[in-house]
Amino acid sequence: MEPLFGFPLVPTLVDSAALTKYNETMETEALKIYKYGDKVLKEKAGDIRNIDQRIVDLAAAMTQTMHGAPGIGLAAPQVGESLRLITLDLSVGENPEELLVVVNPCIIESEGQETGEEGCLSVPGYSLAIRRNFRLLLAGILLDGSELRAEFEGLKARVLQHEIDHLDGFTIVDRVSTLKRSLIRKEIRHKRKSGEW
Ligand SMILES: [Zn+2]
Repeated sequence: MEPLFGFPLVPTLVDSAALTKYNETMETEALKIYKYGDKVLKEKAGDIRNIDQRIVDLAAAMTQTMHGAPGIGLAAPQVGESLRLITLDLSVGENPEELLVVVNPCIIESEGQETGEEGCLSVPGYSLAIRRNFRLLLAGILLDGSELRAEFEGLKARVLQHEIDHLDGFTIVDRVSTLKRSLIRKEIRHKRKSGEW
């Protein structure tokens, strides 16, 4: 397929050796995943100014948490960190080259529309039909400090939009109709009261 925005299609973006190094010594415990209703998921996450060891460690722990869940994408606010950092891996750990970690991701352009079912680790038990752009041009920074500018489409583009939504304080519940949203919120309130959430 021809690149739409004049940038090459980049199927895999391998991040730095830092992650590999971390993997050798890392804790095996997954991070806590915050759920819909938790304040951190409503906040606009802050830009990362400096990719220091803390960010590298957070990215590694997020990757492990995402794989363990299992999930195909995770945003830092979902693990309680209000920072603009996302992880994505459609192979769920099967193919190391599929892992994409992006600092300060930003959608430059997008086009096309497609509705698809989405789940979310922060909204467990729900699968909602969400309309997203089919293709997008993403800019961001990789963990090694290099600049990322690449085009994505289909499921990858969908997951990126889903994760970037988290950075802006939105979840899939905010992307459905008012009627459906109030129904889901009511259900979740009930679950919270009974300790199921
Ligand atoms: Zn999510």
